[in-house]
Amino acid sequence: MSQQDAEQTDRKKYEFRKVIEDLKEYEGSGTQLVTIYVPPDKQISDVVAHVTQEHSEASNIKSKQTRTAVQDALSSIKARLKYFDTYPPDNGVVLFSGAVDSGGGRTDMVTEVLENPPQSIESFRYHCDSEFLTEPLEHMLADKGLYGLIVLDRREANVGWLRGKRVEPVKSASSLVPGKQRKGGQSAQRFARLRLEAIDNFYQEVAEMANDLFVAKRHELDGVLVGGPSPTKDEFLDGDYLHHEIQDKVLGKFDVSYTDESGLYDLVDAGEEALADAELMEDKSLMEDFFKELHAGEEATYGFEQTRRNLIMGSVETLLISEDLRKDVVTYECSNGHEEREVIDRRKNTPTHTCSECGEEVEADEEEEAREDAIDHLIEIAEQRGTDTKFISTDFEKGEQLYDAFGGVAGILRYSTGV
Ligand SMILES: [Zn+2]
Repeated sequence: MSQQDAEQTDRKKYEFRKVIEDLKEYEGSGTQLVTIYVPPDKQISDVVAHVTQEHSEASNIKSKQTRTAVQDALSSIKARLKYFDTYPPDNGVVLFSGAVDSGGGRTDMVTEVLENPPQSIESFRYHCDSEFLTEPLEHMLADKGLYGLIVLDRREANVGWLRGKRVEPVKSASSLVPGKQRKGGQSAQRFARLRLEAIDNFYQEVAEMANDLFVAKRHELDGVLVGGPSPTKDEFLDGDYLHHEIQDKVLGKFDVSYTDESGLYDLVDAGEEALADAELMEDKSLMEDFFKELHAGEEATYGFEQTRRNLIMGSVETLLISEDLRKDVVTYECSNGHEEREVIDRRKNTPTHTCSECGEEVEADEEEEAREDAIDHLIEIAEQRGTDTKFISTDFEKGEQLYDAFGGVAGILRYSTGV
């Protein structure tokens, strides 16, 4: 994955997370909120047919209110489906629609279309409930990384991927290594030699299978887990059978009893801790860099306003944004032309601002879209200035500090600016 793709994914994940957080808050008074997950290989015309079918079946719903709500939701989804070609985009599409409670017995019609989620949608799902079905998307968003998996003993081996939380078995091999029991008439020495040769051949075969799969993806590969009984996995790793770049990515070796496809799942369970560490590795090292710069000198910045100023100057090498940050920024301009900003909670109403220059009370200008997502605001500037943006998890101490102590926004600078 190129740096730019990674950023696109990060930003996209942020956009998705925002929408999902909203969707999770909604409730329908009956089972009337419709969610449809469409995998990339499903023809849109099939989806339309399914929706049409559901629409006619909904006429059997006893409650008039629910019946109307479900049919409205389905009509709205059908209207949105018209905008697609034969197939949905690369990773599929998720559609949400329904009449949600907006308080005081009133309802609002909500329709959201999320195209191209971070991972490919696996299967078609039609869901009608009093809540939207967001879990599958949430899982995708929580998941990071691409890992190679190898399980082997002397008889069989399986290799595959771990994408996020999903295990994908890809290839398997079985060996011709003879058992320990030699046949009558064979010399013990010859038997032992042949057996070792066969083992060596099998390790080579397994390595080739893994290399074929992993080398092409080595730049996006976050690590490799190797599992099996002892001493097989140790022999395999110590013997340097793997391509050196793949060998360098081995996060650890783990005891697993099965080496068929199910062994790949066991391996992921066994390597859970190593995986959690690996997921945070990049975040951790970026925060280390930030703190080093902060303590050593001036090539660090933090807080919304300071970071924004540095971004505009083009002095920010890497923009660090806390994954948990949910803020809007409001821009105010007083009658004396002083432009100032306030960062506020996404869920709060827009406050009146007191200009720090002249003390004037200023209302936000609604027509000029003075209020916008704080992260989008920063990323837009970052993109114009060629600054990398990284979202930082709060699942480790320094990541938490970014959120708590630095307002969720910081930057590692290219040079000192004194701002
Ligand atoms: Zn002013």
